[in-house]
Amino acid sequence: MISTKKIQMVDLKGQYEKIKNEVDLGIQEVLNTTAFINGPAVKEFQANLEAYLNVKHVIPCANGTDALQIAMMALDLKPGDEVITASFTYVATAEVIGLLGLTPVLVDVYPNTFDIDIEAIERNITPKTKAIVPVHLFGQCADMERIMALAKKHNLFVIEDVAQAIGADYTFSNGTVAKAGTIGTIGCTSFFPSKNLGCYGDGGAMYTNDDVLAKKMRMIAHHGQSVQYVHDVLGVNSRLDTIQAAVLKVKLKHLDEYAAARNLVADYYDKAFANNSKLKTPIRVKNSTHVFHQYTLQLNGVDRTKLREQLAERGIPAMIYYPIPLHMQNAYKNDRFKNSDFPITEKLCATVLSLPMHTEMDEDMLKYITDNVLDLLK
Ligand SMILES: *Cc1c(COP(=O)(O)O)cnc(C)c1O
Repeated sequence: MISTKKIQMVDLKGQYEKIKNEVDLGIQEVLNTTAFINGPAVKEFQANLEAYLNVKHVIPCANGTDALQIAMMALDLKPGDEVITASFTYVATAEVIGLLGLTPVLVDVYPNTFDIDIEAIERNITPKTKAIVPVHLFGQCADMERIMALAKKHNLFVIEDVAQAIGADYTFSNGTVAKAGTIGTIGCTSFFPSKNLGCYGDGGAMYTNDDVLAKKMRMIAHHGQSVQYVHDVLGVNSRLDTIQAAVLKVKLKHLDEYAAARNLVADYYDKAFANNSKLKTPIRVKNSTHVFHQYTLQLNGVDRTKLREQLAERGIPAMIYYPIPLHMQNAYKNDRFKNSDFPITEKLCATVLSLPMHTEMDEDMLKYITDNVLDLLK
């Protein structure tokens, strides 16, 4: 049976239709008041997100990449300082490290969870290491308890890249539960439209429980300004538009419901693909909930290019996140890395395939997708 609706990797239109009235009203209010920059919706969204995350400070900014950059600027990292991050991630994480003249030290990830390999972090710590940037890739938290213990032992900052995992809960061994991004020194997120909490343009935020860092990040995001026209530190211009904040205010109320919808999709895929030796479904860890920014399969002995083409012919999109490891990108090639340092990342880049994952998927679609994937693998 062919699904009557077009299958997309994400369906922002379908999601919008359901909240249209409220979103339109919020945007209209911004237009009516013309408070396009730093209007009331920005403060309101900030306060709502602080409450949702149970974190002292949310500092909105223009996008997730800026959030990472401002976080590193606020920590006074200096050229030559080493920052350890995962080799299997979106480029933004390593990009800002390089932009600030810091040294990105890439390490491999775990094959089951796609998250940063903690033994590899430890092996790469030197006297120059200042920070670790774990990425909660695809929507599940890295092992923050172990990362925080390692950071404490070596006196390192931890900047969580939570762009793909907003809303995920991490549970410590003592039972304490914390939202992804509120555990490290600073958490950085993105409100890019396709992210789990996406606006209708660009947006991002930093989170922290540290009052001094919060003040500093707010200052850096506003030209390093403490009082108007007084500039105490070198800053940037990075703001969340009021219109975007108005959209986010509405969508934040639905975030948990959206995560639940994503989990239903993941459950359906998991069940359909269980016991198929050509497909490895995503592993769910005990100490983190999964918000399924992506549903990413690992293929075993399958011609991925051909499968993708055949799926496309049947109206099913599938994406490769990410096709080329960072250590093999021209911009990040470095004498300190050898290709053999990243066997897992290289294998993942060659074998992963992400299927459609969004809040508007119905059973017809899921049946159509899974039936066709299984049919093509016969
Ligand atoms: C999307 C993303 C970013 C960057 O966010 P932008 O808002 O696009 O700048 C950073 N890190 C990860 C892991 C991401 O997925």
